[in-house]
Amino acid sequence: MIEILMTCRTCWDEIAVDMASAVLRMDVEPRAAAELLFACPTCDAHTVRPVVGELLTLLLFVGIRPLTISEPGLEPDDVPPCHAPISRDELLDWHEQLASMDHLPAELDDET
Ligand SMILES: [Zn+2]
Repeated sequence: MIEILMTCRTCWDEIAVDMASAVLRMDVEPRAAAELLFACPTCDAHTVRPVVGELLTLLLFVGIRPLTISEPGLEPDDVPPCHAPISRDELLDWHEQLASMDHLPAELDDET
């Protein structure tokens, strides 16, 4: 069990925050700062505290996995292709290729 000792800013009690019940939130972009989200074990107040420097390094070093939230984005299938739009000539070539597929050998037509 990994605990962080701190003072609650609501009840001013000295508390030990169990990292199993807390969330360490970090940005997706690498930064030397994070936020610790937890509920005070004494007064149950929900609190967000900045975590920086040596404490953040120690938490990551002992294996605390941060929660990272990225900006919302499109699903991969909804992202527009990165190549140039299809030209009229390419579209005509495609139709000619499709038309040539209509003349398949008879044995292939029987399988469908
Ligand atoms: Zn408290």
